This record gives sequence, structure tokens and C-alpha cells, in this order.
Amino acid sequence: MQREMIAHFLIRVGEIGLKGENRNLFERQLKENIKRRLKECEARIVGRRGRYFLELYRGDPEQVESVLATTFGIVGFARVRAVKKELATIETEALGILKTELERRGGTLRYKIQARRTDKSFPMSSYEIAVELGNRLGARLEGLTVDVKQPECTLHIELRDKAYIWGPQTEGPGGLPVGCAGKGILLLSGGIDSPVAGYMMAKRGMKLDAVYFHAYPYTSEEAKQKVISLAKKLAPWNGGMNLLIVPFTKPQLKIKELATPESVTLVMRAGMMRIAQMAADERHGLALVTGEALSQVASQTAQSLRFTGSVTDLPIFRPLIGMDKEEIIRTAERIDTFETSILPYEDCCTIFSPKRPMVTPNFEKISAIYAKVDLEDLLHEAFESSERVYIPPFKDELE
Ligand code: ATP
Ligand code: MG
Repeated sequence: MQREMIAHFLIRVGEIGLKGENRNLFERQLKENIKRRLKECEARIVGRRGRYFLELYRGDPEQVESVLATTFGIVGFARVRAVKKELATIETEALGILKTELERRGGTLRYKIQARRTDKSFPMSSYEIAVELGNRLGARLEGLTVDVKQPECTLHIELRDKAYIWGPQTEGPGGLPVGCAGKGILLLSGGIDSPVAGYMMAKRGMKLDAVYFHAYPYTSEEAKQKVISLAKKLAPWNGGMNLLIVPFTKPQLKIKELATPESVTLVMRAGMMRIAQMAADERHGLALVTGEALSQVASQTAQSLRFTGSVTDLPIFRPLIGMDKEEIIRTAERIDTFETSILPYEDCCTIFSPKRPMVTPNFEKISAIYAKVDLEDLLHEAFESSERVYIPPFKDELE
């Protein structure tokens, strides 16, 4: 039995079209990612080489639009009308699309028609279709001008088994399909920076698992809930997210007891890197991801980063390293993590923050302090007793 298609979308991808032999891999990943997020819909994705069509048989077209707008790898998409291959029907559909666009732009529109014909039995050539349709539309709608060089809007018409028609595309987020750059371990604190860092690496195709270090009762239950809320904000972009909540109180207290006061923060950061590496070992992670930015705080100078990065042999991706706080905040607002990040629950209790932290640590000296504190057993213990939370990619299941 023929299933009834209820909506049809064109999906355009950018960079993945350029990836040579890896293209199939990228394409497969993108299709899989879209489908995973449309779990409760029935959809089929066809097409290849940078252009796909999503056919929806069951589900909400608006949900499809919101998924396409937030799936990395997609540069643009448009709702496609599929109609009978006859000029009058095509004209009616085209009229509807251009009318909406004219209204949106205040009554004038420079446009062009891009016609393609793979069905060679259709009696007109692509050029003839464009000219004839252009004449008819021009006669029926005021304010339309044909401009083939710099159109404000392109009306696409493709004649295949049916006539497929679509107008302006909605922008997608760009980037690469999540998963095609392997797995990364995101150190997710409750601050502004680390969610943005996660977003940026997911955008480059890295599937993230998040790790949060929780020092109860020095950090509150609310601080933990805030991190869970942030992970929920990131989960749709990441296609769902595993969050590891690591009880970090025992290592913290040992550091406080045995490290010199000014080195506490650095030793603690190094301890976090070690546990993140354990998570990576367990989950086939290829890199660690942090929200560090050069010179933002004492633990983020070149000397400090050299030390905190020295306890792991994995690459550490710090996508914010060259960004100003203002730029980071703008991105946080755009991806809707900012309001959550500034909720007033302090992540790091003041008793663990030295008054005068080291800014330019000597590598040998700080490494010796780290060795003396001897955290490894406690770090393993903390990792083993982590709480594991899975956050699905669908908004509906979050509440
Ligand atoms: P953010 O940098 O996210 O605003 P923050 O300013 O509290 O949070 P920093 O002190 O700047 O954090 O820490 C630098 C980076 O170390 C963070 O971006 C994050 O990747 C990681 N980090 C710090 N604290 C934690 C924590 N409690 N759990 C997980 N990661 C953390
Ligand atoms: Mg920070």
C-alpha cells in the first residue's frame, strides 16, 4: 500500500560535500542523527551528494523544522511542495510561495526561477518553464521583478516523478554531523564558558559525554541541578548526552590538606583532567574539551595550562582559548545557555579557592606538589562512584 506523505523537505549540507572519500561516512552520520532526533516520527531521507529530501509520513512537520534547524551539518532547508506535473498546478503553488515572501518583504521582491528537469518527457525545457512561469506570475502578482543576477529569493522547480517546488531556505546551524569526529569528554561546570565550548566542538562533529565534578556539601544540590539543566540544553545539539557526576569532595579535601594554598586550584584542575581521561578511556574518547580561555583566570595562563594538561596524554580542545568573555556570552545567549549559567549557585566553594593563586607556576615545582598530594587512588575511587545520567535529545522527554 502506498503511504501518504504529509510533508517534504529539502536539506542542503555544506562542508560535508567537500570531504572526498569520507563523504559517505558523513552522509550516513547526518541521516542517522536526523532520524534519531525524529524518533517518534516516520520519515525517510533520500538523495545524496549534498542534497537530500526528507519525506515525512507520520509526525509533526513543525517538529521536523525545529530538528533540522538544530542539527549540525545542515546549512539550509526548505519545505517542498510536491504537485502534479502540469504548469497550472505549478503556477498555483509558486504563487503561494511568492505571495508569502512578498508580504514578508513589504510588497516588492526581486526573484528568479531555477527550473530543473530530469523528466525529459515533459514537453518544455527548463528555460521555457522558467520564462513561461515568470510571465504568468508577473501578470498575477504586483511588486515582482525578475532578477537573475542578484535575486532576493529563488523559486526552485524540479520536474522528476512529480513537480517539486520550494522557495527560500531556512538557515541551518552549519558545522559537521555530530559523531563523525569521534567522541570527546566535555568538562562541564555550571559556568558560562564550558557549555559554549561543548557547543563549538559538537559543531565540528564531536559527540560529547559530559563530566561534572561535584563537591557536596561544599557545592550545593542546586549547583548540580544547574549542570543537569545545562546538559539538557546541549543534548539536542549533541543527539542526547551522557553526563557523569563525579563526587569530588574527598580529592578536594586531600588537596586542601596537602597542597600549598596558592597551588590548590591547579592541583584540583589536574585532578579533574585525570578523571576526564578515565572517562575517555572507558568510552573511547579521543580528546578532552574545556571552557578555558587564555588569561581569563590564574589557572588559564600558558604556564598553568601546560601543567594542567600534562597529566593526560589526550589532546585538550579549548575552543574558547582566543575568545573574549563578551564573545563567549553572545554565543551563550544564542544557544540559550546563558540564563541558566548565571543562576546564582556557585560551582566552586570559596574554601577551596586560594586568595592569591599561582599565575605563572614553575612546571617542575607544581608537578612535584601534585606528586606529593598523591591523588591517583582517590581519583579512581571518585570515578568509580560517579552517578551516570543519560539525557535524551528530545525536548518533550526532558520535563
Ligand atoms: P566556566 O569556565 O564554564 O564559566 P568556571 O569559570 O566556573 O566555569 P573555570 O574556573 O573557568 O570554570 O574552569 C575552567 C574549565 O574547567 C571550565 O570551563 C570547565 O571546562 C572545567 N571545570 C571547572 N570546574 C569544573 C567542574 N566542577 N566540573 C567540570 N568541569 C569543570
Ligand atoms: Mg571560565
